[in-house]
Amino acid sequence: MLAYPAKGFTMLKGTAASAGVAQGTAYVLTCGYRSAVPQRSIRAAEVDGERRRLDSAVARAEAELLVLQDDVRDKIGATQADIFGAQRLILDDASLRDRVLRAVEEKRINVEAAVSDVFEEYTRNLESVADGYLRARAADIHDVRRRVISALAMGAGSSGPEIPDGAIVVSDELLPSVTARLQLENVRAFVTARGNKFSHSSILARSLGTPAVVGVPSALAQIKTGDRLIVDGVAGVVFVNPESSIEREYDRLAADLRSSKEKLRHLVDLSSVTLDGTTLPLLANVNKFSDTEAALLYNADGIGLYRTEFTFSIRSAFPTEDEQFEFLERAAERMHPRKLVFRLVDLGGDKVLPYFPLPPSRNPSLAERGIRLLLRHIDVLKTQLRAFLRVSARHPVSILLPVVVGIEDVRQAREVLRQVQYELSAEGKRFDPDIPMGAMIEVPSAALMTRTLAKEVDFLSLGTNDLVQYVLAADREDESTAHYYQPLHPAVLGLIESVVEGARRAGRELTICGEMAGDPLHTALLLGLGLRELSVAPGQMLEVKDAIRRTHLDEARRLASIALELGSAAEVEALLNQHRRSPSLGGATDSAPGVT
Ligand code: PEP
Ligand code: MG
Repeated sequence: MLAYPAKGFTMLKGTAASAGVAQGTAYVLTCGYRSAVPQRSIRAAEVDGERRRLDSAVARAEAELLVLQDDVRDKIGATQADIFGAQRLILDDASLRDRVLRAVEEKRINVEAAVSDVFEEYTRNLESVADGYLRARAADIHDVRRRVISALAMGAGSSGPEIPDGAIVVSDELLPSVTARLQLENVRAFVTARGNKFSHSSILARSLGTPAVVGVPSALAQIKTGDRLIVDGVAGVVFVNPESSIEREYDRLAADLRSSKEKLRHLVDLSSVTLDGTTLPLLANVNKFSDTEAALLYNADGIGLYRTEFTFSIRSAFPTEDEQFEFLERAAERMHPRKLVFRLVDLGGDKVLPYFPLPPSRNPSLAERGIRLLLRHIDVLKTQLRAFLRVSARHPVSILLPVVVGIEDVRQAREVLRQVQYELSAEGKRFDPDIPMGAMIEVPSAALMTRTLAKEVDFLSLGTNDLVQYVLAADREDESTAHYYQPLHPAVLGLIESVVEGARRAGRELTICGEMAGDPLHTALLLGLGLRELSVAPGQMLEVKDAIRRTHLDEARRLASIALELGSAAEVEALLNQHRRSPSLGGATDSAPGVT
């Protein structure tokens, strides 16, 4: 996370979030709450149009705040609801509106950039005053700014900023809803100031196969639209206006990466079988219909995790049952007869939709999300269940519940499923009455009571992305806690081992679908811990298959038992690196770093 200015170019360090390297021209977006904001110059003739856009965005923001205010008054109380009354007063402030319009006219910038600038300045002024009460109001201004920018992004005709072909998108953060609106085919790479390897935008970048470096705090200060960039998504480095010698170096690396993939091509048609002859299903994680193309390209045994958030994030209202059914059915058709696990939409936390404002929370990861949120919005839940069930009439699909905490979540969801089945039968619609229902194990409570929980469901899916953040108290989206976010932490490994044991004793299938399963360095360890079914991003399948084919289960079990005795993630990682260099650990207990 440092900047090294050298010989006229700058090298910025961040976190490697999606492997691959790319060269291109920077396109800087400032990313408002739930929306992306291009900064651009405008012509004098556009000023009036920008004024109208501002007024309709303010009206939209006002309407959203009114809904929020009523909602909070009903659910929490009048005092808390007043926060939104105060925010509406900020929106009504004529002097702020004048300042924004003056900035548009005088600086000839688009209204999003003007709102951003004026509100930033206002926030900065408030943050510097001595009065604590006034200082705290800065957060409200910030919140209103983000809401107006979001409303502007949703205005008529703004389907998302025009991204020039070959652009490298540089932004403060990329929320999934923002990323979804970009012309992804034009994007060569992503660089973000915030986020870490397990942010949803990083996952999205990996599933697109687009290189990404995240958590580069000075990205927006150091990079301007038009700068030449090299994004090294392997090392986690970004070069700004690099020398031609560096460009040549990266040309070579890009060619190497292409050929290393080529080297694994022969694995596509081979099965994922260990050295001792155990064949293991290797499934794909997908986010949208077109990802099934990649899953088929790499010959996935099925889809272990179909995240459904993408479909919700690219619309301006909840997708209808038919809209959901259409693309899910097409995906199931393509994957048939392989298994396909549809996960219910996991909203809340960092996954927010512009048209579904959630009450503000100090800690969104611990607020309403996943199944607990859906159970409070039964219409959204029922609509999606209807779509899943209709697909089940012809295809072997199952339903996965996100962020399950305990058996009540499962029982309530099952009850809603029964109601929906009853309604579909009454309408004469076909579905699989025995459609399997599974639970994500991604919250420590669920992990600790796997065996009990397993009896309530048909299968389990281990979501280490969230499990790691909750076990280690390290926000998966926050670069400042990134060094605490350690999938290889022995506490996480111990918990995984007990989840495996719980599932085994209950006789339930368990798949691991968290990102840690996609790193070939982890494969032997995960198999040694007892996992037998892996679901990974399509781009990671060949490497993981290669690692499976180099693993002997006896050896893997020995490796896992050593790892479980270690004291830190760094020691486990050193052990895995050593194992990769010389897979036979015979006597490794003495030589493994940190094991004495
Ligand atoms: C997980 O938490 O590991 C998981 C697979 O779900 P998501 O990354 O979508 O939260
Ligand atoms: Mg999760």
